[in-house]
Amino acid sequence: MDILSKIKQAGLVGRGGADFPVVKKWSAVAKALADKDAGERKCYVICNSAEGEPGVAKDGYILEHFADKVIDGMKIAIDFLSAEKGFIYLNYSYNKKLNKKLTALLKNSKIEIFIKPINAGYIGGEESAILNAIEGKKIEPRLKPPFPTTAGLWGCPTLINNVETFYNVSLATANQYANKRFYTITGDCPNEGVYELQDNLTIEKLLNQTKNYPKFIFFAQVGGNASGEVLNSSQLKRPVSGAGSIVVYSLTKNNFKKVIKNWLDFFINESCGQCAPCREGIYRLNEIFMKEKIDWALFNNLLDNLSDTSFCALGGSATIPIKSFMKNVYPQIYKKE
Ligand code: SF4
Repeated sequence: MDILSKIKQAGLVGRGGADFPVVKKWSAVAKALADKDAGERKCYVICNSAEGEPGVAKDGYILEHFADKVIDGMKIAIDFLSAEKGFIYLNYSYNKKLNKKLTALLKNSKIEIFIKPINAGYIGGEESAILNAIEGKKIEPRLKPPFPTTAGLWGCPTLINNVETFYNVSLATANQYANKRFYTITGDCPNEGVYELQDNLTIEKLLNQTKNYPKFIFFAQVGGNASGEVLNSSQLKRPVSGAGSIVVYSLTKNNFKKVIKNWLDFFINESCGQCAPCREGIYRLNEIFMKEKIDWALFNNLLDNLSDTSFCALGGSATIPIKSFMKNVYPQIYKKE
């Protein structure tokens, strides 16, 4: 069976958070390459190891324990596409910890490590910003389309997959893929950590299986500690979305204003400043939120503008935790605030 059929049969989806079918992305790059004139058929492979979302640590864990498999998955992609070169776009702190090990594993391969600049921030992990970083340009998102699959590094078709995705490609190719995924669990729970378990667990089952289901009143943020959706404890019979992370918040330990302020501060710091809705909007949201009497109508209006008009997904994702908190948790718990 060829590699695309194996990936398709395994049902692999991207594990960077978008769940995009891997076979579609690989096929799109192969097609873009085939559409070029014979002399211009150059392409690249990038392993996105930026992992900048707070509360998500599974890519670092995979690189620490299974780097050989990740590199094997990249080599399979490079062979499949006859790519010029591969890059591991590596989180600065992971590089400090793993550079020696990775460098040894990459010997005599077409793959090199590109260290994500320390000032690249959260947006430095967005796929088109990664292209800019490697090309030495300002690290900010590009207008899409064109997508990297057709016009990526130096204008060439480029396959960008996440660490866990390449790990899964390696397993699928060896007929060892067992429908598992990695989850990161953090927050007010006794057994924080990264777990490899079946990929179809509900949030509730995952918390129970890892002995993290709280005995106190709580809410959970799913998919990342910055951009993840917030759910109350009656909404946990749904699958774990995004990058597979859960943050548990005790209602008694956490003041909701501090929690929202942390989200706003994070996005103020991480906005690349390219577009006004995000650069100015999040700043204004924070300003309104810090007033003694919050103008909720204006606050909500700005949130809608932010998700509707931001240039890249970061602006919209800044609204997800706040909107879902206000919808799912605030009315139940803080009616009298
Ligand atoms: S939404 Fe705009 S300012 Fe915010 S990170 Fe994206 S491009 Fe930069």
